[in-house]
Amino acid sequence: MQVQLIAITADPEALIARAGRVSHRSEGKGLEADRKLIRRLIELGHESVLEHAVATFEIAGVSRACANQLTRHRLASFVQESQRYVDVRGRGMVRPPAFSDEDWARAKELYAQAVALYEELLARGVPKEDARFVLPIGAETRLVVTANFREWRHILRLRLDKTAQWEIRELARRILGILREHAPSVFEDLGGAP
Ligand SMILES: Cc1cc2nc3c(=O)[nH]c(=O)nc-3n(C[C@H](O)[C@H](O)[C@H](O)COP(=O)(O)OP(=O)(O)OC[C@H]3O[C@@H](n4cnc5c(N)ncnc54)[C@H](O)[C@@H]3O)c2cc1C
Repeated sequence: MQVQLIAITADPEALIARAGRVSHRSEGKGLEADRKLIRRLIELGHESVLEHAVATFEIAGVSRACANQLTRHRLASFVQESQRYVDVRGRGMVRPPAFSDEDWARAKELYAQAVALYEELLARGVPKEDARFVLPIGAETRLVVTANFREWRHILRLRLDKTAQWEIRELARRILGILREHAPSVFEDLGGAP
């Protein structure tokens, strides 16, 4: 799995605090005052101010099973690699940690057969959008996702939980690590200790 931050609001904590001060008419200067205010706003549940900051990630090497879960978050914006248009025969498959070496060897064999059939179908003129039906849900995909900080908090809260599926939890853990570096006051209360 590769997770890369490709865009983020400049000085996000300063912007959020500035927005918060418009509503609260509070005074204060500097990063520590901004962070104190943001922590207070989050405690009060006044999270709409967090919508003014936005972050975009490029994610690769996750399964389509993981992507299907992420794209359920309707307030985020997505682009996902299209199996209708992109020739995906070079793509790998994600290994679930519960697979033993033997399970994984057998899964890879099946995947190689699926890719061979995919190639054969393409060679016979079957369109990519139909040939892809033989590819498994474990096949790797790539996507770009943009969300504001309020929505990132929502996504991370749900997907860091121990009831969430392992792959999206790992993805959420990595995204949280990056967002915490850029805006600790917004994300430090999520997911336990850094
Ligand atoms: C552990 C876990 C297990 C899951 N299991 C399943 C499953 O078995 N089957 C399944 O189908 N899904 C499952 N899901 C997906 C889940 O049902 C949600 O679709 C997904 O988590 C997106 O959450 P959301 O709707 O809160 O968030 P978002 O779509 O990110 O929306 C954010 C928030 O905006 C508000 N909102 C957005 N759209 C609307 C709207 N139209 N009307 C009113 N308010 C809105 C809501 O407050 C919402 O919480 C699971 C999720 C988790 C975390």
